[in-house]
Amino acid sequence: MTTSASVPSDSAIDRLVQANERYAADFADADLEGRPALRVAVVACMDARLDVSAALGLNNGEAHVIRNAGGAVTDDVIRSLTISQRRLGTRSVVLVHHTGCGMETLTEDYRTELETEVGQRPAWAVESFRDVDQDVRSSLRRVRTSPFLQHTDDVRGFVYDVKTGRLREIDPA
Ligand code: ZN
Repeated sequence: MTTSASVPSDSAIDRLVQANERYAADFADADLEGRPALRVAVVACMDARLDVSAALGLNNGEAHVIRNAGGAVTDDVIRSLTISQRRLGTRSVVLVHHTGCGMETLTEDYRTELETEVGQRPAWAVESFRDVDQDVRSSLRRVRTSPFLQHTDDVRGFVYDVKTGRLREIDPA
């Protein structure tokens, strides 16, 4: 057991596994359906300060939550949303980006940096941005214009303030 700040990652995982034992001991959600009860899919940044379920009052079984760096609407997010809507009955999409996002500190040059370092250029876009409001708007457009989605009339985007815990809705126009 170390007391230094640089805790080895395996001990962090051990903590998670122990937490799961306590969680499973009182598990009461065995009868939940796989189809989200609120028929909502949330696409959010992976930021550690954003507790999506707590911030949106979501209970287990109520929504799909799809997360990645920036909450970017990538092809893979469209893949998940397509399955969410067409196979699992969701109708609404909520996008949650946030203040102080690490993606604001990157540029597409990051791909070149990686290529220089590891000798291979990633196929994926970095999906960095400078203006979080504009990034939410462009993400809203990607969802609304996707040919694969059945329900694009109830799609709303927000910026979560990591200092207040409050959502601010972004006007799509
Ligand atoms: Zn972020």
